[in-house]
Amino acid sequence: MNTDIHTADIPANLAHVRQRIQAAASLAGRPADEVQLLLATKTVTAEKIKVAIDAGEMLIGENKVQELKQKDYLLHTLPVQRHFIGHLQTNKIKEVLKYVTCIQSLDRAELAEKLDSRLQYEGRSLDVFVQVNTSFEESKFGAHPDAAIGLLEKVRAYGTMHIKGLMTIGLFDADPEKVRPSFRLLREIRDTALREGLLHPDGAHLSMGMSGDLATAIEEGATIVRVGTSVFGKRQYPDSYYWNEKSN
Ligand SMILES: *Cc1c(COP(=O)(O)O)cnc(C)c1O
Repeated sequence: MNTDIHTADIPANLAHVRQRIQAAASLAGRPADEVQLLLATKTVTAEKIKVAIDAGEMLIGENKVQELKQKDYLLHTLPVQRHFIGHLQTNKIKEVLKYVTCIQSLDRAELAEKLDSRLQYEGRSLDVFVQVNTSFEESKFGAHPDAAIGLLEKVRAYGTMHIKGLMTIGLFDADPEKVRPSFRLLREIRDTALREGLLHPDGAHLSMGMSGDLATAIEEGATIVRVGTSVFGKRQYPDSYYWNEKSN
């Protein structure tokens, strides 16, 4: 599916993304090791993902439960942490929990409630990020910014989930100055949650920034950037396809 990129290019692409992260952190006066790289691997084959893992990457994010399942034969043998970053339907909870240690796309109370029941049943806990729609675009999932604090309170009240921070998908725009407010708003919500004691300082990550806007996100405080295209090449379909509830 990622036809315009050769597997052999992946290590060099990764090195380039690492350089961009370093440059952006340095411009922002932040240590580069404050920013983790998560590889967004939707549509990427397990073999290509392995090349990135062999090059030293340890964190990947998938958008679809089906892809986690398809790639598990190889990935479960590798030293990689898998996160879920796509829209999660409640009927997929049981399945997704077989593969991931973290769900970054916890965006609604109903999902939190059902996750809690399943986690209780399995006698385990799970890392989560609360996803907030800070771009106000209707096509994006995520809690409304005004509902984010309330959702954090709810999730915290269940003992089964460790809140690691907040996640957002920025506004789609080639102009960084138009994207910036959606990242800044996530940071402001994070700071409010910290002040109100809803987040622990160790669990106050900001997962924001992708291939096109990672520098802006890092300037605004990102601690995890999620990068796909810059490492693995263009995908066949627009992101709206992968983010569509019906296609999940
Ligand atoms: C695909 C995806 C990314 C990465 O996007 P690129 O533009 O390919 O870097 C990041 N976050 C989410 C939730 C995604 O679905």
